[in-house]
Amino acid sequence: MSALTFAGKPFQMTPNPHPATAERRAAILADPGFGKNFSDHMIQSTWTTEGGWGPAELKPYGPLTLDPAAAVLHYAQEIFEGLKAYRHADGSIWSFRPEANAARLQRSARRLALPELATEDFMAAIEALVAADCAWVPESAPGQERSYYLRPFMYASEPFLGVRPAATIEFLLIGCPVGSYFSGGVRPVSIWLSSAYTRAARGGTGEAKCGGNYAASLAPMLEAGEHGCDQVCFLDAAENRWVEELGGMNLYFVTRDGRLITPELGTILEGVTRSSILVLAKELGLEVEERKVDIAEWREGVAGGEVTEVFACGTAAVITPVGKLVWDGGEVVSRNAGAEDSVTMRLRRTLVDIQYGRATDTHGWMRRLA
Ligand SMILES: *Cc1c(COP(=O)(O)O)cnc(C)c1O
Repeated sequence: MSALTFAGKPFQMTPNPHPATAERRAAILADPGFGKNFSDHMIQSTWTTEGGWGPAELKPYGPLTLDPAAAVLHYAQEIFEGLKAYRHADGSIWSFRPEANAARLQRSARRLALPELATEDFMAAIEALVAADCAWVPESAPGQERSYYLRPFMYASEPFLGVRPAATIEFLLIGCPVGSYFSGGVRPVSIWLSSAYTRAARGGTGEAKCGGNYAASLAPMLEAGEHGCDQVCFLDAAENRWVEELGGMNLYFVTRDGRLITPELGTILEGVTRSSILVLAKELGLEVEERKVDIAEWREGVAGGEVTEVFACGTAAVITPVGKLVWDGGEVVSRNAGAEDSVTMRLRRTLVDIQYGRATDTHGWMRRLA
């Protein structure tokens, strides 16, 4: 590999003097969980209004120093991304459409008045971290779906309580080995339909991947839990009628006559998984529709058998069948959710096989990292 640069400058390398022992790493890789055990290194670069992006440093994973007046703590000027590195059977390590994540980070940055990070610098950061921590990228037997989750993020570190875009910004990249997102592996999830809360409104930040959107989804998540549900679904803010998405996953509906329907873009987050499914579904012979979806279409469609499957999708959980929709006053259950021969599970296998190198990547989606 040629020497990696970030913002035109070589990486500064500060190897971790106390990496995890092989025993500890092996124990974590054997049962990684999701998002709790991080690898030995992280990458950080600081941006200033005067100097732009400074050199990136690869250094030991560890706590950050943050001024109590750092703008992010007060005004939530923060964005993030999430993507995975997959170890293929031959030992090589790949990521799935990382340029799409880089482009989305740039779109999110524009919305949150943060500096954009060039796609080549985003890619260099990922390559540098994976090269340093390749021992943390788990092997994965079919069905295990283990991977190394990459979390790039950016936040306003300038200590200043005035309200304006911060003049000092940090970009960081951390990573952790992960197993299945929902404990218990792929199983149908139940969804609470929130009527008290919305996630995004026209002109808001719904299309940006920012922490604030997630903070606002937590109270509705608690409400979902109180109703015995795993996840919450939001409707549009204007009419409280059109299906948007879950707190962190996009939605799809399969109809009896072979159509695949997903809510159109506008206030929802444009998922890389969502876009990829649009492509794969057409190849599987489904007719794909991106349009407004009335909540009545979901409730009555499932009850009447017109909608045969509902599923949610996102990088973390890939594709997850939806077993039940619960609202204030009723519920509908999708029978056969998660059946092996369902469209949901066929799409899931197709996507996962590409990601793990078991199927030919005819779309040029995979990027080799190591
Ligand atoms: C990240 C995210 C998704 C899924 O996007 P992917 O690129 O498929 O991981 C969906 N909805 C929201 C709100 C998200 O933040």
